[in-house]
Parts: sequence; structure tokens; C-alpha cells
Amino acid sequence: MNKISEVVSCLDGYDPNALRVDKAREAIRACLAPVEDCERVATRAALGRVLAQDVVPGFDVPAHDNSAMDGYAVRAADLRVDGDSRLREIGAALAGRPFHGELGAGECVRVTTGAVMPAGADTVVIQEVVRAESGAVIVPPGQKRRQNTRAAGEDLKTGVAVLGPGRALAPADLGLIASLGIAEVTVRRRLRVAFFSTGDELASVGAPLAEGQVYDSNRYTLYGMLARLGVEIRDMGVVRDDPALLEAAFASGAANADAIVTSGGVSVGEADFTKQMMAKLGEVLFWRIAMRPGRPMAFGRIDAGGSSAYLFGLPGNPVAVMVTFYQFVRDALLHLSGRTDDCAIPLLRVAASHPIRKVAGRTEYQRGVLFEDGGEWKVRTTGQQGSGVLRSMSEANCFIVLEHERGRVEAGEPVQVQLFDGLA
Ligand code: AMP
Ligand code: MG
Repeated sequence: MNKISEVVSCLDGYDPNALRVDKAREAIRACLAPVEDCERVATRAALGRVLAQDVVPGFDVPAHDNSAMDGYAVRAADLRVDGDSRLREIGAALAGRPFHGELGAGECVRVTTGAVMPAGADTVVIQEVVRAESGAVIVPPGQKRRQNTRAAGEDLKTGVAVLGPGRALAPADLGLIASLGIAEVTVRRRLRVAFFSTGDELASVGAPLAEGQVYDSNRYTLYGMLARLGVEIRDMGVVRDDPALLEAAFASGAANADAIVTSGGVSVGEADFTKQMMAKLGEVLFWRIAMRPGRPMAFGRIDAGGSSAYLFGLPGNPVAVMVTFYQFVRDALLHLSGRTDDCAIPLLRVAASHPIRKVAGRTEYQRGVLFEDGGEWKVRTTGQQGSGVLRSMSEANCFIVLEHERGRVEAGEPVQVQLFDGLA
């Protein structure tokens, strides 16, 4: 394992005291080594897991040319272009019950959606346009060869890999795998993530709140964000600002998890006493990131008894925890889980409905509400943007991502947003 400090010092423009968001992301990415262990799981249990094999069809899907509609399978060559065609119905092909004969000139076969195309037929005429007249089937002109049919292999082709390693399996992928009759797949093992909160002022939910204390809400937001990533979670509770307790917690985290996420204790004043301890346990960098909220953050590795874990030391402020998690930790954990795509949250451009205050020289993640206004999408902020105002996250449905160089935004200007929800 290369030293983290050596890896990051090779990056252009790396400055730990004024680190741009994109640099911080690049620095983290350069240090990550994904989990390699795999396991076999039932297809359904693979939802959200990272595939570790190719999925290669052993046969075409669909296996045969078949009808896309209910109607009549015909021979296009029999159809007149200038008027009605009279055909003789010689049988039926239902989904799952093929017709075993072959169509001759002037013949047709009744078909339902999904029925194997009878031999000789190449076209399906939907039942709604067909008339029955004294035992004959009357097809109007205007039909096109091959219409309303599905070709063998149009979905999946024999021997052509349809899914590959590094892919997080979505509902459609489970369906594709099932359509090949595959009951089990090989996936990477789940990433194990330990997390805890630090702070002498924190009370745990359920305990009474003494004067000057605040309830530990970060462990709840972190729980929610981690649970949605599908990682294995280990909640280590609250750890007091005490070097010995912190050291024990980090060592335990490193022994039992692939990554440790903490909140609090990385701001300049507090970091001093954790720095020495961390230097003893591994290699941790303390950054000041040119962003708001979420300026201080620590990143590194903690070693304990032969195993080690990545450390993401997030700031304590409740909004800063969420912003730094979504902007850095989420992608890092997905990569560590083995995903090979660029798991970034998409940035969409919409118009700002109101002016937004912004200072150039840092990336801001304001909490926004995306709304429709006369057929156009617009975004406004959720009012108070303090990094302790967690309500702003709860009310928001997106981040408004204001780029590093950008200054004040005027009403109507395009801004980038990241949606909190997608198809789930
Ligand atoms: P720190 O980064 O430790 O200096 O904390 C910054 C601010 O966030 C302080 O006001 C803390 O009280 C608050 N804070 C820290 N940890 C938590 C937590 N787990 N839950 C809620 N607030 C917290
Ligand atoms: Mg603290």
C-alpha cells in the first residue's frame, strides 16, 4: 500500500489548507483499493450488490421470433397493396403453445402476444383491423412486412455479455439475469463501514439532555445515508473527546471494518489532539476544503492488528456531515465496494428563481427546492443556510451546487442541482 501522503502530493495543485472540492475528490479516489472478496448469492439477493462476473447469455432472448401483438400471423407476400386480402385461418399459436404447421399461400394463423411465429409467417396484423367474413379473415391494405413481430435475440444475444463486473445491480438487471434462467450470481462482498460521533457535548437519544448538551443527530443521518448505500453498518455510538477512548474506537473500527466514518473533532482547535493519536495509528490527512458547508475534513487510513480501514473524518455540524458525506464519502464507498462506473450524482441545470448569495473561491452546496413553474423547472433555496440548520436538508429536495469561481447568482441564471431522489 502506497503512503497516502505520497499519492496526494503527486496531484497537481494539491494544497491541504485550501483544497478545491474536485482536488479532494481526486485525492481520495487515487488512494482507494476496492474490496476483492466475492460471494455467490441468489439473484434477488444481488439487488444493489456489485457484480463480480460477466453475465453471458447461453441462448437468445427471446429464443424465437414471436408476435408482439394479438392478431394474425400472415405472409407479407400474400397481402395486396391496393385492397383487402382474404386469408384462410388454419390454426392458432398462443404464448407458450406454438403452432406446428407451416403457412402456405393465402393462409394465416391466429396469434397472441408472445406466441412463436408460425413457420412461413413473417408479419402480424393486429386483430383490431381485421374483419371476419364468411369464414375468411379480411386484412386491409397498408400493412408492413415484419410489423408487430419481435426478432429472436433482439433483447439478448447468445455469447454477448450483457452485464459485467463492477456493475451495481438494478431491478432491470435482476430481470435480465432471470430471463437467462440464472438463479445465482457472484458479487463482491459487502463493504463494512463503522461509524461513530465524537464530542463531549453529545447525548444519546433516550437519555435526558443535560445543560449545554445536544442530542447526537449525526449518527442518525449517517445511519440513513449508509443504509441506502447497501453497506454493512457498524454503529459504534458516541465517543468522548478523550484521546484514549478515541484511540480504542479507531483501533476497533480498523479491526472490524473497511472504512470508518466519524463526525466532529476535525476542526482546527479540536484536530490538534486527534492528530498525534492518528499519526500513531496510521496516516491521516487534515484538510481545509474550499467549500461550504464542510470546510474541515480528515481522510486517511488507520491500521490495527494487521488490518486497516479508510477513515473519513467529517465535520460535526449536522448539515456539513451530510454535504461532505454525499460529496466525498458516498462515491468513495461505492468505489471501495467495487463499482467501476463514475458513481457521481448527476448535475442538472435549471434556472434560479431568486438571487442567491455566493462568495467566489469556494464551492457551495446550498439546500434547494426544485419546483415546476409554468412547465419549467426552477430552484430556490430553503432559506436559512447555516451548517447547523438540519431542517434545511429536510425541507430541500436538491443541492444547489454553486461552482468554485462563481459569485452571486441573479434570478433567472442557470445553476446546477443534484436531486436527492431518483428511481428507487
Ligand atoms: P465539531 O466539528 O466537533 O467542532 O462540532 C461542530 C458543531 O457540530 C458543534 O456545534 C457540535 O455540537 C455539533 N455536533 C458535533 N457532533 C454532533 C452530532 N453528532 N450531532 C449533532 N451535532 C453535533
Ligand atoms: Mg466536537
